[in-house]
Amino acid sequence: MFKAEALRELAAVQTQTPILSVYLNVDPRQHTTDEYRLALRQMLKNVQKAAQPEDIEAVERFIQHEYDWSGRGVVMFSCQRENFWRTYSLAVPVSSHVMVARKPYIWPLAALVDAYGSYLVAQVDRQGVKLSLYEMGELSVTDGYVGEEVRKLKKGRGSSGIAGRRGGAPISGRHEEEISQRNIREAVRATERFCRQYGPQRLLIAGAEPTVAQFRELLPKALNEKVIGTFNIDMNAQEPEVREKSLEILEQVEREREAALVEAVFTAAAKGRGGVIRLADTLEVAHEGRIHTLVIARDYHQPGYQCRNCAYITDQYLEKCPFCGGEFAEIEDATEALVTKVIEDGGRVEVVDYHPKLAEFGIGALLRY
Ligand SMILES: [Zn+2]
Repeated sequence: MFKAEALRELAAVQTQTPILSVYLNVDPRQHTTDEYRLALRQMLKNVQKAAQPEDIEAVERFIQHEYDWSGRGVVMFSCQRENFWRTYSLAVPVSSHVMVARKPYIWPLAALVDAYGSYLVAQVDRQGVKLSLYEMGELSVTDGYVGEEVRKLKKGRGSSGIAGRRGGAPISGRHEEEISQRNIREAVRATERFCRQYGPQRLLIAGAEPTVAQFRELLPKALNEKVIGTFNIDMNAQEPEVREKSLEILEQVEREREAALVEAVFTAAAKGRGGVIRLADTLEVAHEGRIHTLVIARDYHQPGYQCRNCAYITDQYLEKCPFCGGEFAEIEDATEALVTKVIEDGGRVEVVDYHPKLAEFGIGALLRY
């Protein structure tokens, strides 16, 4: 299982030889392992000039002979020349991507930790709560509370038999409502205790209305604010179903986060403060080391030129480098060179899968200052 601590370790890694970073989606619901192998081969081919051959070999060897194809995503970092090699199998889906830079490309992992790092599913009913803590999409701790059984009222039982004196709820119904209220209160307490102990980033409440609403009413504000969704599921549902439903909601939340990030870039660019769009402007701020978060549409590539002396990247042909007077070399992919630079400068890079506005402009960034 991938732990957030590994992210801190990776963030500190800096090498002289470029590191090959590989993210491979292996979601068995989408394609076969052979198709994923083929996709990997193609991605590695695309970086064969920038990457070290021994790193490409190491990745291929791992996928061919060691990897067990469990989970939905696999991440590999390789810099054989400097003895750096890490692999992580993930239960959550990743977007396939290959990157070459003198730092590991960790931002997709960071985004996954943000999205799926640790979340609690609280399955509630009138009798209690089942608590399941997930870390990076894997079940890690379970707990719960089961109170007194609440018998279901049979239809019509209120009108015959022991009805309330002033036409209110039948006495037995009222009693059952009291038991249920007490159970829900205890369920909330158990949830609070659990959250204090394990500190999940997010909460999902599962169950039928109105129990879910009653549970949320009693939940303290700080915990309610962590609730990112609710869904209906049978109390006896099997764990894989619970996990599946919760992951669907989290994937949606992650897509919304990405969309909001792109919107933030466009808003800042429109204001002319804190953000830019289009390759030329983005290259300029990158040269000044001002990029906080680079946002790039998947498959956006543009040829360009790079100064042989100071590594300045531009999409315009220039006779001499405006910064050092050096000569330019034509490069196949200015965006790839840009991404490498941003990573090495310590900026974030987010590759966005589908966003119509970003697809039009290809690239943009939020600035540090
Ligand atoms: Zn230069």
